[in-house]
Amino acid sequence: RTRKGIQLRSRRSLTPCATLQSPQQSTPTAKPNWSPNTWRSRPILQQPVYPDSQALHNTEARLSQNPPLVFPGEIRRLRAALARASAGKAFVLQGGDCAESFDHFNAASLESTFRVLIAQSIVLSYLSGQPVLKIGRVAGQFAKPRSNDMEDTAVGSIPVYRGDIINSAAESKDARVPEPERLLRAYSQSAASLNMLRALAKSTQSMMEWVSLINRLTPEKYAALVTHIEDALNFVAACGLDTSASTEGLQNMREPEFYSSHEALLLTYEAALTRQSMTSSGHMSWYCSSAHMLWVGERTRQLEGAHVEFLRGIENPIGVKLGPTADPAEVLTMLDTLNPDNDPGKIMLIIRMGQDKLMDRLPALLRAVKQEGRHVVWSVDPMHGNTIKVNGVKTRPFGRVLGEVDAFFQAHAQEGTVPGGVHLEMTGEENVTECLGGDVNEVTEERLSENYKSMCDPRLNGAQSIEMAYEVGQRLRK
Ligand code: PEP
Ligand code: MN
Repeated sequence: RTRKGIQLRSRRSLTPCATLQSPQQSTPTAKPNWSPNTWRSRPILQQPVYPDSQALHNTEARLSQNPPLVFPGEIRRLRAALARASAGKAFVLQGGDCAESFDHFNAASLESTFRVLIAQSIVLSYLSGQPVLKIGRVAGQFAKPRSNDMEDTAVGSIPVYRGDIINSAAESKDARVPEPERLLRAYSQSAASLNMLRALAKSTQSMMEWVSLINRLTPEKYAALVTHIEDALNFVAACGLDTSASTEGLQNMREPEFYSSHEALLLTYEAALTRQSMTSSGHMSWYCSSAHMLWVGERTRQLEGAHVEFLRGIENPIGVKLGPTADPAEVLTMLDTLNPDNDPGKIMLIIRMGQDKLMDRLPALLRAVKQEGRHVVWSVDPMHGNTIKVNGVKTRPFGRVLGEVDAFFQAHAQEGTVPGGVHLEMTGEENVTECLGGDVNEVTEERLSENYKSMCDPRLNGAQSIEMAYEVGQRLRK
């Protein structure tokens, strides 16, 4: 069959669910047999069981009346930008906490992460010569998939912590009971975060502020590069271009566009925030207003499962995490399901295979997707496949994280495909000691306990994040 001039081979034999596969009979935006509730009849993993279902329904009803957090026009703009990234004309920087928390929420931390993300994007943009698209793991990244349902603690075996939107991390049986009220708190915190991020993106930062932040966090070995970046920013400022620019690139530096994203794990929350609106081509369609971009996690991406069913119906760009077991046929069927029209800004495949396995597994996926003419943004999450334990504490050595980034670029060079983005668990806070290594103020094993704050997985700190931007930027250099 042919769509948009691209030959797609029939995948009937690989397609487990025929009802998901009828794009040729549909208009481009109509989603057959879909509503924000069709996921409810599919098998679902990683969900809490609320003791009081009436209380949950009341909360869902409340949420569904709340204002949207993001708007269809913004979502469409992000899709257009992602389409450029899929063609190698932009690079995506996605980053933020593993899990946002109610207790640790504060303006200083949010602002520092925003500022480090912008500083990273300046380094990346300078080194790659490309615009950098900034997407936070923020304003909704509250629900966590877990490996086990129960956890052994000092007070015995109790249900696991599933993220602040569901239960409390405190070590008691009562604290782990899921509370519907938390959905509303997560919504409010997300609204407050987005309000601040939107304001930060609107307030003109002087070039000098970026220069001093980048300077402070740049490793010694990149002293020569930072001088060039400083020169470039000074030049822009001296020309008056930072305050009176009109071109898209300069506009973006003055008022960086910043998008939000999180894992679409807790589907009651996502469904309650899904709203109908007109698409650019004049069809009515569904937009999830909880974030600009949503992704499906490695543990919940079953083709027949509830999460894929929910995500196939919304207009937002969708990320798919792919671990070492992902195989080409499965990935192509996933693309059929989530992006039947092969729209270039719709799908981001986020590779998280671990530095040791990537070279073994990724090339086959790159080849299959390229051969079938599918448009995707290939991104790498070098965090989740490279976690180790040191003295019982989860950490990620900078060298291993970089090892997966390296393998990712190597695989793309080998297959002639486009490395389009990087996905990091990070914080702008400079004194956090969760990941080992880093050139500026190195985190040693002894220092891990100094300031380990993450509720879930270890994050790169401010300086480690900037160093990673240099490393990625070097690899993007033509
Ligand atoms: C995450 O991004 O926090 C996460 C749990 O990732 P994955 O689904 O890739 O394990
Ligand atoms: Mn994580």
